[in-house]
Formats: sequence, C-alpha cells, structure tokens
Amino acid sequence: MLLKEKLIEICHRVYDKGFVSAFDGNLSARTPEGNIYITRSGVCKGEVTPEDILLIDLEGRKLEGEGKITTEVKIHLLAYKYRKEVNAVIHSHPVYATAFATMGEGFTTPVFPEMVLSLGKVPLCKYSTPSTEELPESMLPHIDYAWAMLLENHGAVAFGKSVEDAYFKTEKLEHAAKTLWAIRTMGRAKTIPLVKLKKLYSISEDVYGIKLNEKNRMDF
Ligand SMILES: [Zn+2]
Repeated sequence: MLLKEKLIEICHRVYDKGFVSAFDGNLSARTPEGNIYITRSGVCKGEVTPEDILLIDLEGRKLEGEGKITTEVKIHLLAYKYRKEVNAVIHSHPVYATAFATMGEGFTTPVFPEMVLSLGKVPLCKYSTPSTEELPESMLPHIDYAWAMLLENHGAVAFGKSVEDAYFKTEKLEHAAKTLWAIRTMGRAKTIPLVKLKKLYSISEDVYGIKLNEKNRMDF
C-alpha cells in the first residue's frame, strides 16, 4: 500500500476510534525522499481523501496540495528534525489520555509491563498555547527519548517508525489511560518492583531498542 493511502486509512481509524472529534488532530508521515505528508487544516479525520493530504518540506513549506497547513505542524516538524527513526506522527485528543494530561499527570510510573516495553516513559509537556512556538518548546526536553507525550490541558502525541506504529502507540496510550482510570475508581495502582523493572528494561533494550537512561527511566 502506498504511504499516502496508508496515512488516509489511519486517519479514518483514528476518527472511528474516537481519538479525535470534528476537525481535531493531525497526522503525518515522512516520505522516502525526506519530505512530509500531512493532513491539511480543517478536515475531519473520518473524511480524509487524497486531496486532503499536503506535501511539505522539513521547514514547513508547502510543496504540493491545496489547502492550509495545520497550525500544529510544529509538533510534527520537531519530531522529524530531532529523531531520524521517527517516520510518522499522530497528534490526537483521546479522552482518557487527555483527562490525565488535564490533571497535569504524565505516565511516569511503571504499572504495566506492556507500557514499559513499547512506550517507555510518557512525559507531560507543560501547557502551551496551541499553534505558537511555545508548543514545540514544551516538547523539546523530552523529544530525544519519548515515543508518546501528553500535552497538558490539550491532548497527546505519538511517534512511530511507521504510520501503523504511531497508530498503535496512540491506541496503547489510550488503553493504558482508560485502565488507569478504572484502577483509580477502585483503589490504588501497584507499581512494578525495581528489580523486576530492571529485567523489563533489559528486554526492552533487546527487543525494542529502548535504552534505559536517566531521562526515560520511570519514576520509582
Ligand atoms: Zn490539538
């Protein structure tokens, strides 16, 4: 499947799953030539067609397509500039993940092995006004290690090695947020003991290439 078609399919999936409403969110993918396909401004992700996908360069200049470039393009450009291994970015507003972001919480404690392995630490980026330079600046302290981030009072961002990978990271993030919400209605979440966490990180390094360091290490 062509990259543009894949991006469109994932746009529809993101909308069908309720990770965005109305015209919210934006999705992008890096082409083999190093340019970026990105959803145009003001389109419902459930109704994206090939005409709604723009081609831009790494400086955010439009190369192909009709329509406005999203004001949240800076989120995407930051990831592609700083992370060579990132080939897709999904910015969405999933209900449970955004609820945690609005309480001012990231996912920084080790609760689910699956989260530790595939997402690692999910930091909270300080509230910033959408569409301004404040937004990429709030992401900058975490851009070198995170595969998903929560944007305070706003939503979520997931990075992937492919469009599908970015989608599954978004889905995993929302699933974890929903489970944590359920846990909090019942009581308190237990965290994974440190010795077991170290074991998980060694798997994470071997299988997912996520290297443990001071920044991505979960709080304990
Ligand atoms: Zn947004």
